[in-house]
Amino acid sequence: MEYFEVGTKKDILYWSKRLYQKGMTPATSGNISVRTKDGILISATGVCLNDMDEDDIVLIDFDGNVLEGKKKPSSEKFLHTQIYDLRDDINAIIHSHCPYITSFACSNKMMSEPIMAEFVLYFGKIPKAKYSLPSSMQLAIDTANYFKTSDTVLMQNHGVISGANTLQEVFYTLESLRAYAETYFGTQVLGGAKKLNRKHIKEIKSLKK
Ligand SMILES: [Zn+2]
Repeated sequence: MEYFEVGTKKDILYWSKRLYQKGMTPATSGNISVRTKDGILISATGVCLNDMDEDDIVLIDFDGNVLEGKKKPSSEKFLHTQIYDLRDDINAIIHSHCPYITSFACSNKMMSEPIMAEFVLYFGKIPKAKYSLPSSMQLAIDTANYFKTSDTVLMQNHGVISGANTLQEVFYTLESLRAYAETYFGTQVLGGAKKLNRKHIKEIKSLKK
């Protein structure tokens, strides 16, 4: 793996490319940030995550004001500031419009079906925040609220947001969710998934202890 220090612009650029190349952030959608000792490094608005360079990353404070950088920060900056405010243990956040995951956010289907052991073990159920206008403070407040009990939240008719200690962890979370979503769609084509039963679920959850 490429060498870079965690929580730097290089860290953001590396995982941004991985996100785009995995189809997680089509066109100029999605945004990415890390918490640093000086504030929050966040992607600029209107950039494609695959084509960013260091100038497309802006340093903002925890109220969303620009501290360093010529570009405008992501229009969803308040989603990031609200979550960092709430959770001391989260130092990296990715917001994605991954079509597979977003399909769940746009329909009445929850990401909660016990069809894959891995999903039961690591997620169980992904909460879904209600719709508000993208980039609004209302959206940021409503969505961040779910981070009291979850590290990942679906955003109705919009996308998904996830946080962890490092961008690598967030990326793997989103990649796992996408794999679940793709598998779910595959099972629909093949006539429906065979769900794990209660006994199976209990056994799987005991692996965590
Ligand atoms: Zn969005």
